Amino acid sequence: MPRIRLENLVKRYGDFEVLHGINLEMEENEFTVFVGPSGCGKTTTLRMIAGLETVSDGEIYIGDRPVSQLEPKARDLAMVFQDYALYPHMNVAKNMSFALRLQRRPRKEIDEKVGLVAEMLGLTKFLHRKPGELSGGQRQRVAMGRALARDAGTFLFDEPLSNLDAKLRCQMRAELAIMRQKVRKNMIYVTHDQIEAMTLGDRIVVMNGGYIQQQGTPEELFKQPANKFVAGFLGSPPMNFLGAKIQDLGGQVFVSGDGFEVALPEERASVALGHSASSVILGIRPSDLHFSPHAPDHEAIDLKVIVSEYIGAQSVLLCNCGAQKIEVELKSETPIALGETLRFAVNREAIHLFDSETEVAIG
Ligand code: ATP
Repeated sequence: MPRIRLENLVKRYGDFEVLHGINLEMEENEFTVFVGPSGCGKTTTLRMIAGLETVSDGEIYIGDRPVSQLEPKARDLAMVFQDYALYPHMNVAKNMSFALRLQRRPRKEIDEKVGLVAEMLGLTKFLHRKPGELSGGQRQRVAMGRALARDAGTFLFDEPLSNLDAKLRCQMRAELAIMRQKVRKNMIYVTHDQIEAMTLGDRIVVMNGGYIQQQGTPEELFKQPANKFVAGFLGSPPMNFLGAKIQDLGGQVFVSGDGFEVALPEERASVALGHSASSVILGIRPSDLHFSPHAPDHEAIDLKVIVSEYIGAQSVLLCNCGAQKIEVELKSETPIALGETLRFAVNREAIHLFDSETEVAIG
């Protein structure tokens, strides 16, 4: 039985429907990440699970219990908020033990639990400090510690890293991954950051416009995106999209467009030919284009370099492909000049095709 199940979950604010019937199952001890752009409905979904928003339609099950009519505290959940929501007048130990003290648990048990969680999160030496005497990253850890000390069945995280600067965010992401290895519990995590989603999630749920676009493991979503939205949302630098059509030229099937004509591998060719759309979108990740001056014509794209962004060992080149724009990666030591035309071999097995009207993946 899944640990948490959302069944046709709908949320309306007055006449405005923001979630249009979400169906989702989260297995026992899974780390599920809701990811999507601002306003897609991920926080609303999390808050409905927490009991902080009412359910307009549908049902939430935790185990086999329908919970949408239950108070938040009856749902066996602990939540970490974006703004941490720490009590400023209490020290770290008191903040972390707050829920346990409310439950009137024995002092010894509380001290042990807080000590254990503080040690796991590297907070032992800060237990007597107040939140105002801590850095952003330390406060974030206290918020996490306060939830973990509660020993709830499910932990909910609402963009817990979004108030941290880029470097600290990266460090806390790694710490979260380590914490995750130690605490095998149900966790639901909301973020708009695709890197957080990819590195932390056992299962990623990509949302847009109040709908689930796709759910699956990070690898499934990266390798087999169901549509152009998911394909473009996951991956950095993002997938390139080029307007194209499928052509059968004397027995060999090509995907071609302004500035390119690439032969499709056999199994892709038959699926593409069988599709009714006359125009398609070719999706190709920058990492699937390799600088290769001698690649044969039917496996390559010639690109004119407009901008080169140095980011260390690799540079990201923005290029013209005919009148379309495309990004590729290149070892920074490769000598190139702006305005130069370079040949890139296409990893043809990794090509994605989308219907240009529905934007749904073909094949
Ligand atoms: P973000 O990353 O910006 O937090 P999100 O994906 O978490 O975005 P939600 O906060 O779930 O998005 O909001 C979904 C939609 O619901 C948005 O269009 C938002 O404006 C709307 N919304 C949220 N809360 C309310 C409210 N109390 N009243 C009316 N509309 C609301």
